[in-house]
Amino acid sequence: MQKGWGHSYQGSYSRRLCHAHIHLDKCFLLNNDGSHNCCRDFAEALKSLQRPKPFPSDLTDLYNRGKRLVIESIQCGVTAMRAHVEWTRRRCTEGVQAVGSAPYVEPSIAQAKRNIDLILDTAHENKLHADFHLDYNLDPTAEPLIWYLLAQLRSRINSGRWADGAHVCVGHATRLSLFSAEEWTRFRMAVEDAENQNSLPITLPGPPRATLDVPGLAREHRVKVGMAVNNVENAFTPQGTIDPLALCPMGVAVFQDGTKRGCQTLVEAVTITARKAIAARGPASLFPAKGDAADFVLLHENDSLYSAALNPSYTRTVIKDGEIVATRRADKWIRLVAQQ
Ligand SMILES: [Zn+2]
Repeated sequence: MQKGWGHSYQGSYSRRLCHAHIHLDKCFLLNNDGSHNCCRDFAEALKSLQRPKPFPSDLTDLYNRGKRLVIESIQCGVTAMRAHVEWTRRRCTEGVQAVGSAPYVEPSIAQAKRNIDLILDTAHENKLHADFHLDYNLDPTAEPLIWYLLAQLRSRINSGRWADGAHVCVGHATRLSLFSAEEWTRFRMAVEDAENQNSLPITLPGPPRATLDVPGLAREHRVKVGMAVNNVENAFTPQGTIDPLALCPMGVAVFQDGTKRGCQTLVEAVTITARKAIAARGPASLFPAKGDAADFVLLHENDSLYSAALNPSYTRTVIKDGEIVATRRADKWIRLVAQQ
């Protein structure tokens, strides 16, 4: 972060904001009459989304909602995203960078493991990244499938069944919030493989629902977790904004960590860690260096990284490849009444 930029702008700038995990086809589905807006539990939300607005028959509605999500995201400063869309045929089309699934919806562990195998096979055959909604439960007796996934990934890399540069992203993963310190050490060792200096290409982006302790895991286990918006204005997540930076003040409250280090980890979680999760190219540091591409968002009302995490500026200017590509402004006004 650096205060000021040129003569026209005051404020801090933040490295490229990133949606590591957002559902393009399920956004903006709230009804004005309040129906489908609030659900008591996940099962009810899932059921309500199985009967949303005429979908996918109404392609214009689908397109307009997705377009709105993309435009509003760019105005926030998002310049990279992994947008999820449901696909009924298993095939890969042009422009698709990742293939994924939700093994947790399978009726048995054996089928969930076959689901993981199928996605890893498909990713390898088509040279794609893989992306899982995994271990979405809070059952301490449930087998965490992350171990199976890590073992499969390691074995496939060792036997040449994994494309160079392909990355695995694991989302949701609430079950991991029950991990002990020993299990996190096991996770880090499984990923890092210090002996071979050969880290597994895997990242965890956790939506706030997951409550993985983002600053705590970075501080105590050197495990970096990205944060992602996931859903916008639908039955799963009727509240909140599309802004990835809005996850930071919520993170300060949820994780009870308002230290400067904690705030930096949270900002990283929606910028460089999120970008790593979707294998987007770019600098690995939050702080700019000479020669870096001029891609960032100006936060006009923040004067430090700390303030950007605690109370992100609404007013923004988005720079991509050295040019202003979007702005967002908030007008403020008050009527002053003269004292009699
Ligand atoms: Zn999701």
